[in-house]
Amino acid sequence: MDALSDTTHGRVDYLRLSITDRCNLRCTYCMPPEGVPARGHDEILSYEELAAFARVAAGCGISKVRITGGEPLVRHGCADFVGLLNRTSGIDDISLTTNGTLLPRFAADLRSAGLRRVNVSLDSLDPARYARLSRGGRLADALAGLEAAFAAGFAPVKVNVLLLEGVEDEVDAFVALAREREVHVRFIEFMPLDRHLRHPGRLVPAPEVLARLKERHALEPHEGPYGHGPARYWREPGAAGTVGFIAGVTDHFCESCNRLRLTADGRLRTCLFSGDEVAVRPLIARPDELRAAIVAAVSGKSYDRCREALANERAMSEIGG
Ligand code: SAM
Repeated sequence: MDALSDTTHGRVDYLRLSITDRCNLRCTYCMPPEGVPARGHDEILSYEELAAFARVAAGCGISKVRITGGEPLVRHGCADFVGLLNRTSGIDDISLTTNGTLLPRFAADLRSAGLRRVNVSLDSLDPARYARLSRGGRLADALAGLEAAFAAGFAPVKVNVLLLEGVEDEVDAFVALAREREVHVRFIEFMPLDRHLRHPGRLVPAPEVLARLKERHALEPHEGPYGHGPARYWREPGAAGTVGFIAGVTDHFCESCNRLRLTADGRLRTCLFSGDEVAVRPLIARPDELRAAIVAAVSGKSYDRCREALANERAMSEIGG
């Protein structure tokens, strides 16, 4: 058993690294219109610090790293950072969550640096709704990013779709996308995480959307692509891809949570919902102390987020989803 295993909850082996809190979009559900106050460059961990953290985490049992943000591709040098992670012993799976808009520029370099798979956040296939939800983003840019992900050979390619009011009119279009392309669409329930943001409307429960989809499509349960985490997947017979659901609100999967998160300013979080954080930046130069802090954080990890749901002060854009 490695340092981050326990007999009740299994193994924490997955780390989400937020490499920036800046973003080139302003999605209504994720950020206020003016954005979050940008931290100075010296407040954000350098790539060397992030890689040093990942090395110690790998020594504790972390083997999968997902790079996120803000929008990770707005930070200069992301592909070189992937290369650094790829040379870290123990880390055998590197993935990226992105809004896709900068993938046409970076996908090939990311792939050659060792990135295996990407998740593209794409909340709408309708240009006007996409622009409204992202406050000015262009659907064509995100779709070009999706094509760039296929062309670069990432596998699997997943698409994240937030279940926001109005999505009901679009779910069939996403099912069609998964029929035609080898893409894994994941419908994600909005998590009311940031109490400073206005709730974007009515919660659209994943089970309702699934039930309606099943009336119109012959969906069969499917084990899903590699790295399926908390999503449950379905597939139409003969379809190239799948559709999945991440029901973070109507279904609790805290018990099987295998994740750690590091914010761009160097705070370790063991739960998306809990406000508990450990400031680990000062420990990065002292690997033994850092290791002890990671092990202590995981052994104190909450597997019952409800108790602490209101304690969170951070926007999702700061945590990285
Ligand atoms: N900029 C990148 C992107 O767009 O994917 C990475 C960061 S973004 C915070 C990561 C994911 O978190 C996105 O798929 C986004 O839809 C999701 N997200 C943001 N706020 C959320 C919320 N309140 N509930 C559920 N998912 C959320």
